[in-house]
Amino acid sequence: MPSTAIKVCVRVRPFANLAREKGQSRIIDMDTDNGRCYITNPKDDKQRSFDFDRVFWSFDKDTYKFADQIDIFNFLGKDMLEQGLKCMNYTILSYGQTGSGKSYSITGGESNPGVVVRVAEELFKIIANPPEDKKNVKFSVQTSYLEIYNEEVRDLLKPKSEPCTVRLVPKTVHPAGVIIEGLDKMDVESFAEMSELLYEGLERRVVAATACNKTSSRSHSIFTIYFTQSEARDPAMIGAINKIADATVRDKKMKAYLEGLEATCQLHLVDLAGSERVGETGVTGQNLKEACAINTSLSALGRVISTLAKKCGENASKYKHIRIPYRDSVLTQILSNSLGGNAMTSLLGALSPADVNYEETLSTLRYCDAAKKIKNKTVPMGNPDK
Ligand code: ADP
Ligand code: MG
Repeated sequence: MPSTAIKVCVRVRPFANLAREKGQSRIIDMDTDNGRCYITNPKDDKQRSFDFDRVFWSFDKDTYKFADQIDIFNFLGKDMLEQGLKCMNYTILSYGQTGSGKSYSITGGESNPGVVVRVAEELFKIIANPPEDKKNVKFSVQTSYLEIYNEEVRDLLKPKSEPCTVRLVPKTVHPAGVIIEGLDKMDVESFAEMSELLYEGLERRVVAATACNKTSSRSHSIFTIYFTQSEARDPAMIGAINKIADATVRDKKMKAYLEGLEATCQLHLVDLAGSERVGETGVTGQNLKEACAINTSLSALGRVISTLAKKCGENASKYKHIRIPYRDSVLTQILSNSLGGNAMTSLLGALSPADVNYEETLSTLRYCDAAKKIKNKTVPMGNPDK
């Protein structure tokens, strides 16, 4: 059973065309060769550094270290597809304050598509031309797109969605530990169909103006690709296996495996809501309620991450019996088998370069730093012999 650390990277965006960043100075620097990110405290010029698996410099183009959308895809998306082909669950999370560039990296725009779009496009290329060892495999793809807003889950692929109910089922139940009642999984045959669903869902996302960024979303969104691979065996062989199997194999799962292998993995692309604290972006009234709900999920995610990190850290045995607080929020329930569970995870911390955002950017760096310590135990989905 492989034990793989979470992959953590950060990306700094250019100065935005926002009033509050006019005349601001840059407090982020990066050594992209060594995965090091520097942040300078504008008050006392003290510099701190954080090390990650990768750091992406998107502040300005006129340097060899400039990283574009394709670089993000090469680092996160290719890994997701590679693991998906091995039937491994995979989650990409983007974390950061409102306006830091989360949605840009995850979904992007028409002229600069983000990692979701590129993963979808590449997935259908793989299906059209599978690798040599997958020539006999039948592939099918489904997708769902949900939003968590005020701790309520909505299906973004439905014109009018009733709130969905999230239930955790015991680990023993196949294939996953989470059921989301009322969430549709749509069959998807092509990249064009998938991007149509993505843009349809994007339009439905709840947006609220904040003093920080007028168009940024106040909700978490999860775009999921369910990737199924089935390998039919030779019919003559199935007959022969069945004869032996009926007599000797009682285990249904094992019998299904002998007859032909079918496995589905889930690839989640998560665009988290802004991580800024209430009060700093001038939110009041309805928006205050939103900010509190966002904090419920994000602070729960923080506790899950720090508990997982403790369980993998130097004093792991001390924390052996500590429960991971997945049930504390809707977000962490949905991601319960994607963080520390049977999944590979990548976290992208989105950073603003501006000095006005020092506190929030530092807090994003700390959050990402804490996540580095998590190790996941992963097993390919649906292989009872692994
Ligand atoms: P968030 O989703 O974190 O609230 P956005 O992704 O909407 O933030 O980004 C805020 C603004 O900054 C948008 O106008 C976006 O186009 C721009 N932006 C973010 N990242 C980049 C980048 N790497 N290169 C160019 N522009 C960016
Ligand atoms: Mg956004």
